[in-house]
Amino acid sequence: AKQQAGAAAVTFQPGMSAGASGLLEIEQALAAAIENEEFQLDYQPKFAAGTRHLAGFEALVRWQRPGQGRVSPADFIPAAERTGQIVALGVLILRQAIGHLRAWQQQGLAVRPVAVNVSPLQFEDLGFADWLVALVHAHGLAPELVEVEITETAAMTHMERVLPQLARLREAGMGVAFDDFGTGQSSLTLLRRLPITTLKLDRSMVDPLPEPSAGAVVRAACVVAEALGLTIVAEGVETEEQAAEVERLGCTHLQGWLLGRPLRVEAAEALLTPASLK
Ligand code: C2E
Ligand code: CA
Ligand code: CA
Ligand code: CA
Repeated sequence: AKQQAGAAAVTFQPGMSAGASGLLEIEQALAAAIENEEFQLDYQPKFAAGTRHLAGFEALVRWQRPGQGRVSPADFIPAAERTGQIVALGVLILRQAIGHLRAWQQQGLAVRPVAVNVSPLQFEDLGFADWLVALVHAHGLAPELVEVEITETAAMTHMERVLPQLARLREAGMGVAFDDFGTGQSSLTLLRRLPITTLKLDRSMVDPLPEPSAGAVVRAACVVAEALGLTIVAEGVETEEQAAEVERLGCTHLQGWLLGRPLRVEAAEALLTPASLK
């Protein structure tokens, strides 16, 4: 249902938000929250298959709403997309993630790449990719440390605007991940034409493992990804049985509650070792 919400949200038209009072309410609340910077990033670790060493993080936004605790992105990202506020929110998110990377680097930690989720609406501004590349450079970070995640559905429905900008990010050395693979309409043959470095297998493909037919699909995706030189992350790994299976089938990385829940920034930082001990 989350994906459907995301896909529907990209049909936003300016002026639409004034219609429903519920939406107006969330729009006003979001406007204040963006103004007050009430958003925080949690970091979910990703691990290399086999060694299970820390390979990087995915940044996941939370809204620290006064009096209401931490609100899940599933409860406000679709609204932020409908109102167009995801663009301003996306700027805060990218600034925060890049700020954390820089702080870790300045503390002499062995920094790992951070993947940030990006909405297709952020690409409506044709200068988005250039802005992001400049931001990364201005913070003195190697571009390889920043990866952008875009959902399969989002990339496919906004191809003309999204693909050239993803290519620009790739050219600059940044990673590009195709998120939630297996939930949309795209085929394995399409992957060849996309400027991506990583394929993220949706949890719905990992859940049924070790059921043989599910395994056959994961295996096929891994074979194609490997031939194209892509890394392939299995998402939503919750059991050791699933972990062993995705490793056996050829996934290069694992992410999920079994190996690590999303962590507060301090806890994520604690997983990094001093660069000198690398
Ligand atoms: P996603 O990009 O597919 O992120 C993975 C979601 O799966 C996260 O939910 C994560 O907490 C959850 N997850 C991770 N491991 C497991 C597991 O083993 N089992 C289960 N059941 N779930 C697991 P979260 O943090 O609630 O985020 C939901 C969605 O909200 C994300 O899905 C993404 O589409 C969106 N989102 C999150 N942060 C951002 C952001 O900064 N910007 C944008 N545009 N979207 C975001
Ligand atoms: Ca993601
Ligand atoms: Ca995902
Ligand atoms: Ca998802």
